[in-house]
Amino acid sequence: MLKSAKIVRPVDANGRVVIPKHLITDVLKAGPDEHVSVEVMYTDDSIILKRFQHSCTFCDSCDDLKEFNGIRICPDCLDKIKKL
Ligand SMILES: [Zn+2]
Repeated sequence: MLKSAKIVRPVDANGRVVIPKHLITDVLKAGPDEHVSVEVMYTDDSIILKRFQHSCTFCDSCDDLKEFNGIRICPDCLDKIKKL
């Protein structure tokens, strides 16, 4: 279910907006040293913030990733590669 929260924050002289900490920690479940991705929807002037999750290089799955030389891969793609 889509939930929403509306906050109004000022834009500073450098064009930055501070997002309240509770939205980052409680809604995005992101903590210190984690990353947040920013998705800008140009057609409707919206910005979507998401907790960054590593994903499979080949299919974008985030499940049960293995890493080899900096490349993350999911079990399905790994199986497909093994069959090549
Ligand atoms: Zn994959």
